Amino acid sequence: MDQLHDITERFTDGAQYIDGRPREGGSGRRQAVVDPATGAELLSYGLAGPADVDEAVAAARRAFPAWAGATPGERAGALHRFADVLAEQADDLARAESAQCGKPIRLTTGFDVPGTVDNTAFFAGAARHLEGRAAGEYSADHTSYVRREPVGVVGGIAPWNYPLQMAAWKVLPALAAGNTAVLKPAEITPLTSLMFARAATEAGIPDGVLNVVAGAGRDAGEHLAGHPDVAMLSFTGSTAVGKRVAGIATATVKRLHLELGGKAPFVVFDDADLEAAVHGAVAGALINSGQDCTAATRAYVQRPLFDAFVAGVADLMADVRLGDPFDPGTDLGPLISHAHRDRVAGFVDRARSYATVVTGGHAPTGELAKGAYYLPTLVTGAAQDSEIVQDEVFGPVLVVLPFDSDDEGIAFANDTPYGLAASAWSRDVHRAGRATREIQAGCVWVNDHIPIISEMPHGGFRASGYGKDMSMYSFEEYTQVKHVMFDNSGVALKGWHRTVFRGR
Ligand code: NAD
Repeated sequence: MDQLHDITERFTDGAQYIDGRPREGGSGRRQAVVDPATGAELLSYGLAGPADVDEAVAAARRAFPAWAGATPGERAGALHRFADVLAEQADDLARAESAQCGKPIRLTTGFDVPGTVDNTAFFAGAARHLEGRAAGEYSADHTSYVRREPVGVVGGIAPWNYPLQMAAWKVLPALAAGNTAVLKPAEITPLTSLMFARAATEAGIPDGVLNVVAGAGRDAGEHLAGHPDVAMLSFTGSTAVGKRVAGIATATVKRLHLELGGKAPFVVFDDADLEAAVHGAVAGALINSGQDCTAATRAYVQRPLFDAFVAGVADLMADVRLGDPFDPGTDLGPLISHAHRDRVAGFVDRARSYATVVTGGHAPTGELAKGAYYLPTLVTGAAQDSEIVQDEVFGPVLVVLPFDSDDEGIAFANDTPYGLAASAWSRDVHRAGRATREIQAGCVWVNDHIPIISEMPHGGFRASGYGKDMSMYSFEEYTQVKHVMFDNSGVALKGWHRTVFRGR
């Protein structure tokens, strides 16, 4: 990957970023960053261990008083400069993200990077709009008001599927509210999180406000989750690991924000625009090779449209072009790793015993065989309680099931442990409205599936976690509300003292 040399050589001083400086990780173990399109090693770096986490947390603690004490306008100014620096570095960020994840360059230049720049600009503005209720005399003798204060050092743990965007989601509301942060990216995709932290320094955000420790989950991740000086843990990843870190964080009475797995239903009623639904299902299932927590994974199609929908999806999937992520003509890149590709293939191979694989269901041959590619895959005939319908596959795999009544379609949509996102497809405003009310998910789209925007919250119900990323709602996670109560009477013997001082 010669064209990436200018990026990988930035990490010769190490792939950690603590107190405004790059450095080597001290765990004694090394980690490779691998291009999943070719299997070639892009970088080998020293992983962070517990001692690095301790130093990063200490740097964040030192930086906290000044950053928390800055005015909202000062923090907003720094975050606006941060957005500008990220925008200037957009091409480098997109290339690094495509290389370490295998994402098509059209996706990183059109979604990952501009989304991150927009998020940064949003939180720059939002930093000046932290609100509470009006002060008032809720008791005749007192004036009460609330202060919205940062919680302290926030530990963020992020997954590999959108490394840059997840870094932004974990870090930006925390910083905008006056917290400092220690981010642990997934150890296989640290590059853009490190570039993000360096850009923060270039923008003038003080040393120690944003630190990155690239270490293993069981080692650096658990140490961060249990660290006594970390006031809050913000975790995005799988439900299984989320449960484990929740246990660790709870033991130290941390504030906790969990963005976990998803299994988004895609409900097509029989009056839907079929062409729109077919395009929406294929795009929603294949974005980022299906490695998206909100990806359309289970399409429920009302019986009259079922056959035409399946045929349309199969045709469109056959048209999707797999290829080199850096070729602008490529629609679909590889999965994140060969190990993950094999895990996805395992779900589909097991499904052959109880369902029909209509298209795809294997890795491509020829030039792409050395990468972690997997063909767009359509499965029908699976039962609602089968593994491929219930569990998160996290690959380019769509299962389609029929339903009869609207009640049944909505019941199927709600019948997994997850509740992150869903979509309803109908031309009937009442049907669509009912679906938005009754489907239990943190986001329900109508006649679309996938778009997100900085102003609106993202977060799950049920086993998909709790708390919100993006939007003003995220400040509920990253601030704590303090009640301040002033006595207005000025007297020594207050009215309520009669409950204690008898007869006075
Ligand atoms: P993962 O749970 O395996 O890992 C996520 C992060 O946790 C990584 O940084 C990893 O190193 C760390 N980790 C692993 N074990 C740990 C431990 N014992 N203690 C502390 N940290 C640990 O998830 P992944 O495979 O990287 O990402 C895919 C998952 O993330 C999917 O389930 C997907 O749905 C979910 N996800 C959810 C959202 C959302 O907004 N809800 C967004 C993106 C991804």
